[in-house]
Amino acid sequence: MTSTSSDNFKEALKQRADIVRIVGDYVKLRKDGAQNFKGLCPFHAEKTASFSVHATRQFYHCFGCGESGDVFTFVQKVENITFPEAVRLIAQKLGVSMPKVSFSSPAEARDAQVRMALLDVHVRAAAFFQECLRRPEGANAREYLKGRGLDAETIARFRIGYAPDSGFLLRDALRREFDEELLRVSGLFSWKESSEERSQVSGVRSQAKQVLRSSQDDNAGETSDAKDEQPSAMSDQPSANSNPSQLATRSPQPAAIYSKFRNRAMFPICNDQGKVIAFTGRTLSADEKAGPKYLNSPETPIYSKSRVLFNLDNAKEAIRKLEYSILVEGQMDCISVFAAGFHNVIASSGTAFTELQAKLLGRFSKKVVVNFDPDTAGARATERTLGLLVEEEFNIQVLTLETGFDPDLFIRRKGKDAYAAALKHSQKYFDYLIDRARALFPARNSESKVKAVNHLLPHIQRVPNRIVRDELALEISQKLGIDSAVLRQELKHAATTRSAAQVKATAEAQVTGAERVLIRALASATEMQSGGTRSSTRDGTDEEFDPARQAQYALLSEQLYEGLASQSLMEALLQAGAETADVMALPKTEEDRRLLAAILMSEEEELTPETVEGAVRALRRIYYRRRLEEVQRGLQRPGLPLEERQALLQEKVRLKRALMDPVLGEPGSKAS
Ligand SMILES: [Zn+2]
Repeated sequence: MTSTSSDNFKEALKQRADIVRIVGDYVKLRKDGAQNFKGLCPFHAEKTASFSVHATRQFYHCFGCGESGDVFTFVQKVENITFPEAVRLIAQKLGVSMPKVSFSSPAEARDAQVRMALLDVHVRAAAFFQECLRRPEGANAREYLKGRGLDAETIARFRIGYAPDSGFLLRDALRREFDEELLRVSGLFSWKESSEERSQVSGVRSQAKQVLRSSQDDNAGETSDAKDEQPSAMSDQPSANSNPSQLATRSPQPAAIYSKFRNRAMFPICNDQGKVIAFTGRTLSADEKAGPKYLNSPETPIYSKSRVLFNLDNAKEAIRKLEYSILVEGQMDCISVFAAGFHNVIASSGTAFTELQAKLLGRFSKKVVVNFDPDTAGARATERTLGLLVEEEFNIQVLTLETGFDPDLFIRRKGKDAYAAALKHSQKYFDYLIDRARALFPARNSESKVKAVNHLLPHIQRVPNRIVRDELALEISQKLGIDSAVLRQELKHAATTRSAAQVKATAEAQVTGAERVLIRALASATEMQSGGTRSSTRDGTDEEFDPARQAQYALLSEQLYEGLASQSLMEALLQAGAETADVMALPKTEEDRRLLAAILMSEEEELTPETVEGAVRALRRIYYRRRLEEVQRGLQRPGLPLEERQALLQEKVRLKRALMDPVLGEPGSKAS
């Protein structure tokens, strides 16, 4: 993106993209003033909104973590993508076609091409599996899905399909459209290498790994990532002493590829845009040799399991609307709960949550009802998931169903009303933990109580907010009947390993109303320049009035900003003049950026020649007063030479007279 034409496109796009709308896709925003909106920051965990978006000036700023930028920066950060990708995504959201995609390198272009093609492969594969489900050979799969209580609507909604027993049908269907190299990276196929290739490969790859592989295509086990099943039939290969140099002259014979997923019910995994990026296949075979019960696509250029939440594409709107999500463990649970009308459900797919997933979910709501049994045997993944949600400052409720019931079974046996009632009775996570600690250490003696505290401490320690930790300590001491001081001591100790979140005092509070007006005036230079297409609020103002020029003139000719809390910010704005379009890029320090954002976010009143002039007068007064104090201090200096004394006395008179002058503006002017 270096050419001017792409820069023009970028600028045009920025003008068209309403930052409030784009950000609104990720953050629940509410109006918080004439031109700004507020919401929970997607870049740091928080409970009270400190993330602001300025509608007119088209930037965002978080007063909690200091993140700041325009619509491109936002999408880039929140999606974790490159700048060209962010431009493309925004263009897509607006329905604007890109002029010509330009990549920073041929490699980047190639990667993007592969990703696009892989998405196409998955669209085709999903359609193929759906078609197979309808055909006679899909009878078993249909029977299985029916047995799980899935109706036609749900099957269609989740694009559930059937992977036939033959390993070649999918390949033959896709080979007509895509080249084989692409199919090999799609994660949908396996292959056995020919003898030549096998030797060559083994010369490069680690021997140990291959020996460990079983000759079965699919390893035994409950769930498995299919990548572990890749080149198979290697264990019998005595290739340790093959000679790579000899092999280099032979051209490797690509081995035939065949479907990784065979005789399985196929559940597409989609990204949050609803694009199929991977599959989970549930075996329909009772034979153990058929491989794991659930087989997942391996990681591919379009699929990274740590970044995906199952069903988020279907659930995100409901999560936003209902302001909470329901987190279940398995995809089947998720589909059942969704089909029963609880549309805000997502699944972690059996693995522990990652920070990325937690952040992804947090974009839509920070409240979650966790519906899996945190007590299940060996559920370290569950514990990690909950721990992570605590660390990301989620408001967590735990829904514990009767023993032996998972959400799927519960809904099928007891119905959706019972599930709704159970949801209502979900428990706060820490209440749940306290109950469990009490159950584990029921004795009422002090030894048992200490054990309970020790059991709870690591959980409490995960809470980032010190105040919340403190509240928890109190609650626990009450519920366990422990002397609060002792427990608090323990907690304090536990808390020291965390860096305490501190409230930073800023210069903001010391900045006067007059300074605010002048900073707004200075910042308006950039606003005028960037077209003013959006600033309908400027309609009807005096065309001659240029607040920026008026402020610049006054501040520079009299150096009125010297010694003010906002001095460095004013200097940065004065230096830039009308050169820059992005006003938020001008401040030189984080603190100044924050100050500028705060001032711009709270601008309510229209700037008029009178308000600007009033502000200048107010600063002049401040300046004169300060100078007068200096003069008076100077006059008290012992041994002051007569000439200097004379000069200071004259200045004192001048300053006093100036301060008395009504033209200077007495208190009560708009600016003070
Ligand atoms: Zn933030």
